[in-house]
Amino acid sequence: MIITSTDEAHAELARLFAQSHRMTGFTGAGISTECGVPDFRSPGSPWMKHRPIDFSLFIADPLAREEAWRRKFTMDDMYAGARPGRGHRALASLVASGKMGAVITQNIDGLHQAAGTPADKVIELHGNGTYAKCLECGQRHELADVRQEFERTGAAPECECGGVVKSATISFGQAMPEEEMRRAHEETLTCDLFIAIGSSLVVYPAAGFPILAKRNGATLVIVNREETQLDDAADLVLRGDIGSILSPFAASQ
Ligand code: NAD
Repeated sequence: MIITSTDEAHAELARLFAQSHRMTGFTGAGISTECGVPDFRSPGSPWMKHRPIDFSLFIADPLAREEAWRRKFTMDDMYAGARPGRGHRALASLVASGKMGAVITQNIDGLHQAAGTPADKVIELHGNGTYAKCLECGQRHELADVRQEFERTGAAPECECGGVVKSATISFGQAMPEEEMRRAHEETLTCDLFIAIGSSLVVYPAAGFPILAKRNGATLVIVNREETQLDDAADLVLRGDIGSILSPFAASQ
């Protein structure tokens, strides 16, 4: 069933949330657009401006690393200060109520945690762009320090151990994080309601989770303003603006 009326969407979600014993949230870039962070595939996306620097190139080529950091800091400046939106706040409330076990997210912006969802309830499949990590020893590096060093030397910074420092995101060509994938499977297989919000559902393996939930017997709900790849598989498609659809479930902050 596809619902395009916001009032009907509110009523249907309220009914499903009341019925569910355990839900899993799944989010993509669309939940953050009302916060000023553009999504990946909508027209004019700044993320599509350059050919992505894949993981092997980042490792192999110091010039590619420098370019990756330049791009990263330019994007960070554009979206610095983004605050969580109504969708993030609704999911934080559902997690706080105990009904939603966790939020699986493809996003790297940290806005679920900023909205109050405890970090251990946010499963970041593609990492987190608000800090950096050494690829050798795993040490965390703060972006402000990395940037200061980069601007001082003009070179991509290294860890004290000599390892390559990279934004803590998962790049094209980089292995998916094992523990996050394991936990995402677990949350997907233990829920009776799986709600996918703001994703075109074309990026795999992430987009495999809604399908897995459905095959496992959960009710699959998709909230997005345009068609997604998995609409045909969903029990319910709520087509419209995420913030408007989820606002009744968002606690004010
Ligand atoms: P996507 O860009 O492919 O899809 C986003 C979907 O959200 C689109 O179908 C769009 O129509 C919809 N949308 C946008 N704003 C909406 C709104 N206000 N209401 C309803 N629908 C809305 O994004 P994806 O599926 O998440 O895949 C993109 C990849 O890029 C992900 O892997 C993610 O890691 C990365 N990314 C992350 C961020 C972020 O962290 N905020 C931003 C851009 C890209």
